[in-house]
Amino acid sequence: MSRAFNFCSGPASMPEAVLAQAQQELLDWQGRGVSVMEVSHRSPEFVTVVEEAEQDLRDLMAIPDEYAVLFMQGGATAQFATIPMNLLGSKQQMDYVDTGVWSQKASKEAARYGEVNIVASAKENNYSKIPEMAEWRLNPQAAYLHYTPNETINGVEFAWVPETGEVPLVADMSSSILSRPIDVSQFGLIYAGAQKNIGPAGLVVIIVKKSLFGNALPITPSIMNYEQVAKQQSMLNTPPSFAIYLAGLVFKWLKQQGGVAAMEALNQRKAEKLYQFIDQSSFYQNPVDVSCRSWMNIPFTLADDKLDKQFLVEAEANQLLNLKGHRLVGGMRASLYNAIPEQAVDALIEYMKDFEQRCG
Ligand SMILES: *Cc1c(COP(=O)(O)O)cnc(C)c1O
Repeated sequence: MSRAFNFCSGPASMPEAVLAQAQQELLDWQGRGVSVMEVSHRSPEFVTVVEEAEQDLRDLMAIPDEYAVLFMQGGATAQFATIPMNLLGSKQQMDYVDTGVWSQKASKEAARYGEVNIVASAKENNYSKIPEMAEWRLNPQAAYLHYTPNETINGVEFAWVPETGEVPLVADMSSSILSRPIDVSQFGLIYAGAQKNIGPAGLVVIIVKKSLFGNALPITPSIMNYEQVAKQQSMLNTPPSFAIYLAGLVFKWLKQQGGVAAMEALNQRKAEKLYQFIDQSSFYQNPVDVSCRSWMNIPFTLADDKLDKQFLVEAEANQLLNLKGHRLVGGMRASLYNAIPEQAVDALIEYMKDFEQRCG
């Protein structure tokens, strides 16, 4: 069986070359007669895996030295609690921007540790448009401002970075990290669950400005304390070693592709193709304002939702997988992460055209 085009929102498609390399090395890694997941995380050869993964990520994102890079567990969701526990310090308040499902989940969890101020909400327009920064009610006393640059479920993405002055900016980049260049120095903390653009689920990558260390609440478990995890090079306990190895292979693959700038060009092309097709059709529709349409996650509906099931069944028969939209939004969603080749988008558009002609 040939590889299908997999539009899953997460865990998402991995680069085929990475899977092939992992397969080839699985039984006998580096000629050692064991797999990488069977060696001590303290062994020099595995420490090298972690160090190379970190260095490759630093190269890809041009991460300045005053930032620590951490590999932790529990996905992005564990960070919803870990962030306030580490950054609140003696402050009581945190700013959150509500642009969709994931930013809401983050703010609800943070509210267990302090006072959450929702500085702006896209609720009034049904999460189809990001409120202008001029309308945000920022609190200069906030420990940080949290936002979600790409709302994976709503298909809404910031094309700009909020300016928060002295207040550290915290970004959940789970579904957009490495999809285009960013200036890391604009952020206090960036975090990303791995299973969209990095590697296997469970792993979460954190890029944190070291000057923010020292603000952890006394209740913070050691394993969730950024400063302690950084001191131990992400190996305070046994790390998810196989996931880190795979993430490292993805970073090397990205470098071979031409890095994040090459991904930006490819991702823009892929997304624009699909949006153009949807916009010229009277059968398909995307609800998001053109100013903030996501390059990574493209939700769309059919003119008649009674056709949804047939659309999905026939797509699957054509090896176009996981196009069902999130249950909170309905309809369809195509996730076009870095590992999705342009041919996948071409094949999807061909299928959508054909379906519209037959059923529209
Ligand atoms: C997928 C996702 C999450 C949740 O990640 P987990 O690893 O399941 O905790 C959080 N935020 C965003 C933006 C996501 O896309």
